[in-house]
Amino acid sequence: MHSHHHSFSYDLAKYEDISCDLCGSKDQEVLGFSRESRARAVICRGCGLIFISPRMTREWYDKFYQEEYRVLGGGEEESLAARFDRQQKHGFALAEELKSYFPAKGFLVDIGSSTGGTLAGIKKVFDRLDVLGIEPSEAEAEYARSQGISTHATLIEDVERKGIKIPEADCVLSTQSLNHFLSPRYFLIWAWHRLKPGGRLILEVKNFRQQARRSGRVANSIQIDHIFMFTPETVREYVEAAGFKPIAFLDDEHLQIPDIRKRQKRGLPGFQIRVVAEKTSREPFSDISGAIDPAAYVKIKSALAPWRLKVNYVFRYSRWDELVPYRVKNLFKIN
Ligand SMILES: [Zn+2]
Repeated sequence: MHSHHHSFSYDLAKYEDISCDLCGSKDQEVLGFSRESRARAVICRGCGLIFISPRMTREWYDKFYQEEYRVLGGGEEESLAARFDRQQKHGFALAEELKSYFPAKGFLVDIGSSTGGTLAGIKKVFDRLDVLGIEPSEAEAEYARSQGISTHATLIEDVERKGIKIPEADCVLSTQSLNHFLSPRYFLIWAWHRLKPGGRLILEVKNFRQQARRSGRVANSIQIDHIFMFTPETVREYVEAAGFKPIAFLDDEHLQIPDIRKRQKRGLPGFQIRVVAEKTSREPFSDISGAIDPAAYVKIKSALAPWRLKVNYVFRYSRWDELVPYRVKNLFKIN
């Protein structure tokens, strides 16, 4: 056991107000606070993107991940081996589900690749695919390498500075990491530049609206390490603004609890958005307004009204709901 010097403090941390990472607007309104009140979520009136603002600076988020995240229990209870197994199951199921969209061979890079389990699972389906992970946690990257998954321990923001050469990719993958990026825009630009023409971007990210409906309150779904929160509308806007064309767009929002349980048994989360998009010749963020859905903000904002979340919680996700047979629910089609 090593002793842990714990110097992180929310009071000492530096905070900054940020403009919208997707559309650049500064016009935002408060959506709510996390349960412990440390994080304030806002929604952009320009595009509907939800994010934490003000938020800690990059330097303080680094400190947070190094010193506070584990204390809060961020992935601590699970051993690296257990995490690898869980992620391997997930990677296998994801590759099976999106089988016709993954490149069967070539080179795939996974951003936020953790223990490499997801890549190992994908390799079980596509054994001719060369894979590489990029993962900020040294311990997880080391574990991935011990399992035969090549992995660079770095943030993508530091790849160039460190002189790491990444080959041109047929596919850039990111599963369950988008919430943690300090700038999804940076990641998407990075992905666009590293992909071959027509290369594919595959994203899997939590759907904030579905998560809020599941918990019945917006506060239950806001957390300080989820810097950006997504809905299908904003994922689509981001991907299009970044010079990609979506070719498959799946989300779990319509699923009832028994369907979600079935997915979870296979290792797939049940509250996600999955997108496969193709790189076009359009430069990333060269035509943001063309990618913005003018109806997105009002649609997202009104769905998150407290009474609507409660209705969805009671009729779709509460235990009571599980007792109601499908046939009866289909008569009412609650959305
Ligand atoms: Zn915006």
